[in-house]
Amino acid sequence: MNSPVVVVGGGITGLAAAYDLVEQGREVVLLEADGRLGGKVNAGPIENAGLPFDVDMAADGFLARQPEVVELCHELGLGDQLVAPTGAQAYIWFDGALRNIPSPSVLGVPFEIEPIEASDLISAAGTADFAARIDAPADPLVGDASVGEVLRPRVGAEVFERLIDPLLGGINAGEADKLSINAGAAQLADAARVGGSLRAALRAQVDANLAAAAGPVFNGLEGGNHKLIDALGAALGDRVHTNTAAERLERSDGGWRVWAGGQCIDASRVILASPSWVTAGLIAPFAPESAAVLAGIAYGDAVLVTFVIDKSRLACSLDGSGFLVPRSQDLLMTACSWSSSKWAHYDDGTHAILRVSAGRSDDTRWVDMAQADVVDTLRGELVTTMGLDGDPIARVTEWRQSLPQYRPGHLERCDEIDAQLAAEAAGLTVAGAQMRGLGLPACVRQGRAAAQS
Ligand SMILES: Cc1cc2nc3c(=O)[nH]c(=O)nc-3n(C[C@H](O)[C@H](O)[C@H](O)COP(=O)(O)OP(=O)(O)OC[C@H]3O[C@@H](n4cnc5c(N)ncnc54)[C@H](O)[C@@H]3O)c2cc1C
Repeated sequence: MNSPVVVVGGGITGLAAAYDLVEQGREVVLLEADGRLGGKVNAGPIENAGLPFDVDMAADGFLARQPEVVELCHELGLGDQLVAPTGAQAYIWFDGALRNIPSPSVLGVPFEIEPIEASDLISAAGTADFAARIDAPADPLVGDASVGEVLRPRVGAEVFERLIDPLLGGINAGEADKLSINAGAAQLADAARVGGSLRAALRAQVDANLAAAAGPVFNGLEGGNHKLIDALGAALGDRVHTNTAAERLERSDGGWRVWAGGQCIDASRVILASPSWVTAGLIAPFAPESAAVLAGIAYGDAVLVTFVIDKSRLACSLDGSGFLVPRSQDLLMTACSWSSSKWAHYDDGTHAILRVSAGRSDDTRWVDMAQADVVDTLRGELVTTMGLDGDPIARVTEWRQSLPQYRPGHLERCDEIDAQLAAEAAGLTVAGAQMRGLGLPACVRQGRAAAQS
């Protein structure tokens, strides 16, 4: 009898891998260290808030133009529960006011002058600087570089620091100045690889996307993303072992042996969808260079505080999806998502649900604060930014070591990991947010690709 494929990690990557293997008719064992499935995808009730639904504790949506999650939802019978955000405008908090994010833009990079002028976010000098740079002919990007190295010279400091870093740095809880453009902003890398005018390249991208567009850019699931996790868990049934951490790997005649919970499981192959430091420990005896690369990946710490309060207690009109905060504003918060405006399924008509994020790789203040102080500080910042008047219910979700920081050369290092494992530890595959994309579609893509390999 063939040994099963063992999948280590029951986050979205491992679940997608295991599901794909089951669909192929393969034997599968999925090991999850925690007592629940989902990893960074989770939702739950907000105690004492009077909401008749659970609210996501991290990802509340996913890119629909990368179709992997949408397709998986359809396969799992969740297609009729896919929902689109309301499409409301997003803002930037800058110098005491919420200001429109100029549109059109690609990953936070605007390319037309008039919307920048109209946004009241960029000074006249910053707009002139942008106008002088965005059309200037540039050599095509070769290889990889940081987003800052590529874009600062093409848009100027103000646009970079007030628009691009808040968005791209926010997604990763990191710094756009250090983020690999290939790994963290592939669309921008594609535009930069064209060379010449950045405006022309971005316009062409937007035009092509509009021509190909069918449906919304983002989707979520009515009732929260954990529904996807629940459906995957149900499809896998007793193949899933929670509270069971993989502790050690050994070679065996037919492949691999996985030690977990004092027992050993013979495996034909092992898919490692655990965080990079865990995977590094497991593969170190067989692929030490790859283990060292994985162990060296830095992670950002984020905290997400969900506030619930009667809408009437906010001076701000909630006519948008939320706002981002540039680091120059010196707030603890990095973003505030107005979930009850962004998603119809989170709007009960009465309550405002505000999901406030803090934490960047270079700003770990919240890590050393008591939770009550984090809540107090962020509540105070809601008074400043949104005219909050009252005492909201707050739920704190800490996401320590949750967002991998891709540095230039990251994708090449992933290729080297794959090559070393193929050469020296055939049958071991590494997948997940720490490798080739941290958004849910990228994780599903990697999990399914690992299952197919
Ligand atoms: C606050 C926040 C907001 C986000 N928002 C969005 C969003 O809006 N849209 C989006 O697309 N993405 C978003 N993301 C990113 C996305 O949620 C994650 O990148 C993705 O869920 C990671 O999935 P994964 O399976 O690769 O890793 P994980 O979710 O980290 O799963 C790894 C699993 O391995 C388990 N494990 C660890 N050690 C062992 C072991 N020894 N044995 C067995 N199991 C082990 C862990 O318990 C965990 O369950 C967000 C992330 C965060 C933190």
